[in-house]
Amino acid sequence: MTDPAAGIHCLAIPTPFAVGRVNCYLIDDDPLTLVDTGPNSGKALDTLETALREQGRRIEDLERIVITHQHIDHLGLVGILARRSGAEVCALDLLAPLIEDFGAEAERDDELAEALMLRHGIPREVVTALRSVSRSFRAWGGSAEVTRRLPDGDRLEFRDRVLEVHHRPGHSPSDTVFWDAERGVLLAGDHLLKHISSNPLISRPLGGKSGEPGDGRPRALMTYMASMRETRAMPARLVLPGHGEPIEAHAALIDERFAMHERRAGKIAGLLAGEPRSAYEIAQSLWGNVAVTQAYLTLSEVLGHVDLLLDRGLVRELEVGGVVRYEAH
Ligand SMILES: [Zn+2]
Repeated sequence: MTDPAAGIHCLAIPTPFAVGRVNCYLIDDDPLTLVDTGPNSGKALDTLETALREQGRRIEDLERIVITHQHIDHLGLVGILARRSGAEVCALDLLAPLIEDFGAEAERDDELAEALMLRHGIPREVVTALRSVSRSFRAWGGSAEVTRRLPDGDRLEFRDRVLEVHHRPGHSPSDTVFWDAERGVLLAGDHLLKHISSNPLISRPLGGKSGEPGDGRPRALMTYMASMRETRAMPARLVLPGHGEPIEAHAALIDERFAMHERRAGKIAGLLAGEPRSAYEIAQSLWGNVAVTQAYLTLSEVLGHVDLLLDRGLVRELEVGGVVRYEAH
């Protein structure tokens, strides 16, 4: 069989984040296309230029830039690359406003994060510290005009291939995967990673949609699991992720992820059997000090699994003095 990834080159670009390098993909087709850009740093730009040169290309040669989702390590260089190349910038229609005004959108995300952290028992001094860390990260972001807004189900056409556009929210609300049905190749962004499970980070819903039932908090893990079910059903031969190695057995990997989420939900249910706890207290029991240094990440993890338990009627929510606790039901 021919190589399903023929004509697609992985360019691994350094990031300042714990996740390590981000995989950008050069699609050597007409138009010449880059999927994701790396963060906005001199080091990332240098590495990208070198990697392109190894493929006999320059930034100025790019004709199309595609962004998979709203995270800073995937879109930071979009403005610089679009300006230098004149490439069209393509993104899911719901993602476009976030790319066009990254700073203001990130600020609003931080406001939601702050309210959520306080409501779930994280001390104010931790919340304040995290907010300033988040602000300092913002310099790695960037903005550009999205010249082509892709509705879910759209098709990106090339001389030698077609990529179908599928919205698969969960890791972030804007996660988009690009599917080459003919070759069985899925460009997946951070929707599915091999070496780590993608965290279902709680973010503002897109497109001005109102919140979900209850306190309006988006149910990120439940959304993510629904998206993974759709991806599992795809006859993919190869998944090209936003970090780490390519994935060949995607259905087995998704089954592992589902089993892991069940185990974690079960563990949390066990913790709540003794006494009511806030999401912050649950995170501390599970991860100790990481619940402080990575407070928002671990809060998102805990709330995602609490949502599974709430959905099954196994726990209930108690609110006292503006702080939420959960207890076994
Ligand atoms: Zn991401």
